[in-house]
Amino acid sequence: MKTDSVIKLKVKLNMKVKKLKHFETMADLSLNQLFEAKILPNKLVSLNKNVKCKVKNKGDMPNDGFIAVNIRKISLPMNVECEYIPGDYDVEEETDDIGSFTLEDIGKKFKIYCKVVQVNQTSGPTLFTLFDGTGSVVGKAFVGPGKRAFPELDGGDLIIADVELRERDGSLEAELLKFKKLDDSRSRQLDNKIDRLKDEKAMPKDVPFLIKSEILGKLKPKIIYVAKEIKKAIIEKRPIILRHHADVDGYAGAIALERAILPLILEQTNDEKAQWINYKRAPSKAPFYELLDVTKDLAFSLTDMARHGAKMPLVLLVDNGGTEEDLLAIKKCKIYDAKIVVIDHHYPGKIVDGKTKIDPYVDAYVSPHLVGGYADYTAGMLATEVARFVNNAVDDNVLYLPALAGVGDRSKCSEFEQYLDIAKQHGYTLDYLKDIAICVDFEAHYLKFIESRGMVNDLLGANKNKQRKLVSLLIPEINARYEEQMKVIKHHVKSSEKDDRIIVQLESAKVGFRGDFPAVGRITGMAHDYVCSLNEGKAVVTLGIGPDFLTIRANDHNENFNVNTLIEELREKIPYGFINGGGHEHAGSIKFVEAVKEEVLDYVMKNI
Ligand code: MN
Repeated sequence: MKTDSVIKLKVKLNMKVKKLKHFETMADLSLNQLFEAKILPNKLVSLNKNVKCKVKNKGDMPNDGFIAVNIRKISLPMNVECEYIPGDYDVEEETDDIGSFTLEDIGKKFKIYCKVVQVNQTSGPTLFTLFDGTGSVVGKAFVGPGKRAFPELDGGDLIIADVELRERDGSLEAELLKFKKLDDSRSRQLDNKIDRLKDEKAMPKDVPFLIKSEILGKLKPKIIYVAKEIKKAIIEKRPIILRHHADVDGYAGAIALERAILPLILEQTNDEKAQWINYKRAPSKAPFYELLDVTKDLAFSLTDMARHGAKMPLVLLVDNGGTEEDLLAIKKCKIYDAKIVVIDHHYPGKIVDGKTKIDPYVDAYVSPHLVGGYADYTAGMLATEVARFVNNAVDDNVLYLPALAGVGDRSKCSEFEQYLDIAKQHGYTLDYLKDIAICVDFEAHYLKFIESRGMVNDLLGANKNKQRKLVSLLIPEINARYEEQMKVIKHHVKSSEKDDRIIVQLESAKVGFRGDFPAVGRITGMAHDYVCSLNEGKAVVTLGIGPDFLTIRANDHNENFNVNTLIEELREKIPYGFINGGGHEHAGSIKFVEAVKEEVLDYVMKNI
């Protein structure tokens, strides 16, 4: 026997060879690849325990040790022939991308360059979340129940790690076998590489829009930017909180995004549970990001951060988030370094140099108003187009959602007509969409802030059979309530005429049951529709009057009518009224202290 020192002779030279991994087989070989081979006693060589080969020029090669060989012939099932290449060589250190791991790799060992992004001590093992820019995996290490393994390894460290892949409840996780921390300059290098990979991976694929629209054409760079921020959050395992207005438009947009996001979270983590840990959808009753909501989101996120080392979330605001009323909540999020992406169509106030009031505080914002568009291009339509850039495999499940969003928000633009055509091609008639919209409203009323992922998803068509059943169960019940409510409205509604305009008044808070369906906003809408239908072609403005609020609806014949302008005027005229509110030009609400109700009503009656 010769000593091993002969074998390990490696001088820096140009020849680079690979090492066949222990789990790889003949099927992983290709011709003219250089490998390191071990010489066996009978002048065969082995590339690993699975693959042995004959050597063409075996007379030239040493009796034992390791040599470089070139693969010359592969004939299945068992025959590989190679050529011995004399000379010194270097074995390329092969590492793997986390993003390439699949459930088929369970039991295999890998070497990865990665960053420790999260350390979480459980009552059992210590969990290290490892991220390399292509994907992330949880690396477990166990030294004793609740005992910190590898105490020298912290969040933010850049390492080269040996891991073995395991399965847990159908998901992929890794055993962290050993690691080496990289020195400063290599750490920096890897950190930059991870950032670059993340950026490349997050770059959305270009897809054509579902419809022809000037608004969409102009918004494309912003849509891509928003989609990229969402994808980046998924790649970095940043928790996503999707906040949306709890109306049909908001639900449609949120579900479109949810259907794009969840498969990517699964793909990224190989962990079924991640869709519950890294993503949460939350409806908001108000048409803006309320203090109550942001406080909840921040409180839970900060707890998760302290307890599990989670990142601050990406807050994704849909059909919400674009107005001045959102500013406080948004600023609060920024204090805690949450990321914020807004997809909204509510009137954002004056746009100065292409920027709105929220622009400086959000990470990405897309709204039709930014390119001279209109609120009729709704958030649900916009969010669906964004969803397709986030995940272009999402199409089949979202094609009818923009039309549903438009039905919900009573959109009348040419974009809506095009989306409606698409929905029809997929079996959704206008009547059926209207029925679904009514049901979503009804469900939203009782769900309030509850996510109810499965049922909402079914109602919005994830399970078409269940969708039909839900709709046919709910519609008769809702219609019965509407009929009863309509009798009440007809009796109590008052209309008067002023300068060719019909003004409708209804004490909306007094003609419905508090907390029940239909709610005051809907009751006002019903009164408005009723009066409009009796006065076709005429301008109608409806005021739903409450003790400390006004709900306003105006039809299309009211040119130059804007609820938001009215609010600004009221604020000026009645500074002691605590006046606020907002919404769309022709549909919104005004809040004030009860003491100024008569003054507000008086001003509104005289000035509309
Ligand atoms: Mn909307």
